[in-house]
This record gives sequence, structure tokens and C-alpha cells, in this order.
Amino acid sequence: MDRLSAAERSTLMSKVRSGDTAPELRVRQIAHRLGLRFRLHRRDLPGSPDLIFPKHSVAIFVHGCFWHSHPGCKRASIPKSREEFWRNKLQRNVQRDQAAISALEKKGWRVVVIWECETRNIDKLEEHIGTLFRRRRKKKVGSASRVGF
Ligand SMILES: [Zn+2]
Repeated sequence: MDRLSAAERSTLMSKVRSGDTAPELRVRQIAHRLGLRFRLHRRDLPGSPDLIFPKHSVAIFVHGCFWHSHPGCKRASIPKSREEFWRNKLQRNVQRDQAAISALEKKGWRVVVIWECETRNIDKLEEHIGTLFRRRRKKKVGSASRVGF
């Protein structure tokens, strides 16, 4: 199933070359495979989300576990040397993330964070992303917003 036009594909490929991270690419490939339409790195939105799905009003951030301090994740432990420096730096990242998420939510976006460690199992990731959008199509949904897995 290939729903990208030639122009979209060439945009996609140029982004690939400009240093995108593997976890983000995995998310993108799955979204593409599921036939979802998305845009990348919209600078005009708070935090410039990695992917947005305009039709569904869904914004996805693909976060590195270390840099964004994935709670409870072993990849997110603070280095022993210069601990104070790292603690401050990472805390600022988390605060910036939280500010971006609440600003997006105020604008009516449903924000989903996908962590780097959650992109390793492709099948699970695909199921998760599929669920996010399938659920949207049902008429009445109880708790609509869920972040992460
Ligand atoms: Zn993690």
C-alpha cells in the first residue's frame, strides 16, 4: 500500500537525509503503512511535533529516553559525573516538553508521546499507532487522551 505521491516521497527522503533519528523513522514508516496522512516538524506549532495528523488532530512526539527523561526507563538514568549539570539540563527539557504539550492541547490537539524504547518492537508499535487512530473513528470514546503506551 503506497499512498505517498512522488513529491511527498521526495520530501520524505530529503528529511531522511537531514539527520532524522531511527525511532522517528520507524514511527513514520508505520504511519505510512497504515495509510495515515501526516506532516513533519511543523515549526508553527508549539514544540514543533515530530509528526502531526491534521485530519485526526493528533500530534506525535518521538522522544529519546535519555534527553527527555522517560520516567522509570533505564535509559533515562542521570550520568554519575557532572550529575548536577545533567539534572538541570534534562529537567529543562522536560519542562519544555510539558509546556509544548499543554500549549498543543489548548489548541485542540491530542498529544501522544512515543518513547524511543517503545519503537524497538515494530509489531507492538504498529499495533499501538493503529489503536490511536482506530479509536478515533468510533462515535463515543471514554477517555480520549492517553500519553504513551
Ligand atoms: Zn524509555
